[in-house]
Amino acid sequence: MDTLIITGGAGFIGSNFVRLALAETGLRVVVLDKLTYAGNLCSLEDVSRHPHFVFLQIDIIDRSAVEQVFREFQPLALVNFAAETHVDRSIDDPRPFVETNVVGTFVLLEAARKFLGSRESSVRARFRFLHVSTDEVYGTLGESGFFTEETPYAPNSPYAASKAAADHLVRAYNETYGVLTLITNCSNNFGPYQYLEKLIPLMVLNAVDGRKLPIYGDGGNIRDWLFVEDHCSGILTVLQHGRAGEKYNLGGGNERTNLQIVDEICACLEKILPASGNPAMLRQGMLRYEQLKNFVPDRPGHDRRYALDASKVRRELGWVAAHNMDAGLAKTVQWYVEHGDWCRKVQSCKYSRERLGLATESS
Ligand code: NAD
Repeated sequence: MDTLIITGGAGFIGSNFVRLALAETGLRVVVLDKLTYAGNLCSLEDVSRHPHFVFLQIDIIDRSAVEQVFREFQPLALVNFAAETHVDRSIDDPRPFVETNVVGTFVLLEAARKFLGSRESSVRARFRFLHVSTDEVYGTLGESGFFTEETPYAPNSPYAASKAAADHLVRAYNETYGVLTLITNCSNNFGPYQYLEKLIPLMVLNAVDGRKLPIYGDGGNIRDWLFVEDHCSGILTVLQHGRAGEKYNLGGGNERTNLQIVDEICACLEKILPASGNPAMLRQGMLRYEQLKNFVPDRPGHDRRYALDASKVRRELGWVAAHNMDAGLAKTVQWYVEHGDWCRKVQSCKYSRERLGLATESS
């Protein structure tokens, strides 16, 4: 049976992709994950007994462990989700971002190169290394325009810079060594299983608990949102049909300011758990979730606007996002409200929803 290696498969997007890959590819899925604060096996509970699922707790910067996995499973392809992903944390301490995102990707590429070096040309021609990247590598936009695959890289945060560096390495291994690679650059994801520090789950959980909803700066920063299942279907499409050596933007065309997202979350919550009946709100004499909105100092170097032109993947591979933003957001809010157990398990003393990323001290 052919094997697909998925790194970072216990994280938000990775766990959603593992589910899709098991359901749709017929491949053995081998997940490599270090299980950092952001990765948790409870995000994979429903697939843990699947006969084609294997989990290995491995740090992708561990060269000998990664090479052993290549020797043992002789993969047909690898999809690299493993990363440090929170911009605020990259401001507080960039080191793990360089280690995992840059050095870790390098270790995976080297292991792939070594593995393929001793294989016949038909194996080398079938193998794919798909690197999952972000639109943040392109920097920031003004009020108009879109990032295309030709937009020069101009990362502004340590997170974005580490992802950009990894993208360049991936491209170089394709050009120099003939390791056939693909890169996807995606916009902001939302949906089930996202770690609680990110905007949407944080706002839902804080609102339910009657805690303040911290909005950075004036709340006018714009992101282009994509439902996580759409991102996963886009990655699978690129993996199966993309042209080796190419990069593809994956975006939903759903531009929203952060303030709009918070307002939409409050409106969704009023329908499923009205503030006027929520004891955590009533204790503070508040009757509407929007009363919790709290403008706080902005993130240093906060990119103002991201918007992706995803016409290449539509034109070449026929992929488009299937989910409507408002329906996807409502489904997401409901999921976090209904999955208190999952939220408690992944949070487990690792994060108390405190403010991160003000660059006030170096660690
Ligand atoms: P996440 O933080 O939820 O999950 C990251 C996973 O990687 C975790 O399971 C973690 O344990 C694992 N990991 C971290 N360091 C590791 C290491 N050294 N070795 C092995 N595993 C390690 O991240 P996510 O939001 O699911 O993002 C997945 C990928 O998609 C990342 O590469 C990210 O840059 C990219 N991306 C994310 C978004 C988004 O909106 N979340 C958008 C575009 C691109």
